[in-house]
Amino acid sequence: MEPQAAYVERHRPPGGRRSGKRDLIVNTFLGQHGHLSADDLVELMRSEDHRISRATVYRALQWMVDAGIARKVDFGEGRFRFEHSYRHPRHFHLICKSCNHSYEFLSSDIEGLIEEVADARGFDVRKSVVQIYGTCEACRTGRQRPEDEAPTELLLARDALRIAIATERSGLEFYTRAARMTKDVRGRRVFQQLAEEEGEHLAKLEARYQEVLAQDPDLESRPAFLFFKGAANGLFAAGTDVLAKGVDDKQALMIGIRCERGSHRFFKRYGERFEDSEGKRIFMEFADEEREHLELLIREYKSLALRQAAKPPRRRAKGRPRRASV
Ligand SMILES: [Zn+2]
Ligand SMILES: [Zn+2]
Repeated sequence: MEPQAAYVERHRPPGGRRSGKRDLIVNTFLGQHGHLSADDLVELMRSEDHRISRATVYRALQWMVDAGIARKVDFGEGRFRFEHSYRHPRHFHLICKSCNHSYEFLSSDIEGLIEEVADARGFDVRKSVVQIYGTCEACRTGRQRPEDEAPTELLLARDALRIAIATERSGLEFYTRAARMTKDVRGRRVFQQLAEEEGEHLAKLEARYQEVLAQDPDLESRPAFLFFKGAANGLFAAGTDVLAKGVDDKQALMIGIRCERGSHRFFKRYGERFEDSEGKRIFMEFADEEREHLELLIREYKSLALRQAAKPPRRRAKGRPRRASV
């Protein structure tokens, strides 16, 4: 993970001068979660060093906005708020009009839709803002909202891992079943190998999930950050259903190819959209792994087709009616 100082350095405009006071403001700002108004930051700075003027804080904020370190958000309160982008992936907001609190979420389906609309209209998107106004659960029910908030990056990593684990699990089930049903010895070995790999990787993902959970004792129960309508695990589940209906070796391999291709595309497409974060890495690594599986299955499919072409299928035993092919 990129350290904070390196992050600031990378965003420093060329020829930009260093300034002790500004560095102090930048570091304090980056240490905060949530959405601060300029005055919130002034207050925060003055609690540390009261010689810092309001104008210096304002200038530092503008500098951070220009450098891409801070994002300006307008929640319709008549003043701007600021959030930093260090280890803070892009997101949308739910804004409570009763308590003015905002809640962050990300929906890959909404992002996809925005892309689709912009493409259709030949529009070059620089920034998109989705803000949903209403009443939050805490205000609606009188239930206490947790005082502290988890960093967005941690929530994204948690949710990315959950999706990857669910996909891995359905992949494992698919290959275990395919290995049991496949009569071709080589094809069976391929499915067994893939089942083994999925099992190993599942254990790794679960260990990584535990590591992420260890960073915040309440992480598991925090609300979802990342929303997906169609997650990739559905692909393998559908594949397993087809297997259950009874298929031959070649068809089983073809189903595997379709599942892996769909899964690879899913993780790559969404992973590419995320900003640099642990969640992005999880998705991109997973996409690579699915591509390797895809390539292995394609090789096996081709070699099985060659073997079958070289050796005509054996006659069926007399008396057993041939099943009608679909
Ligand atoms: Zn509220
Ligand atoms: Zn935000």
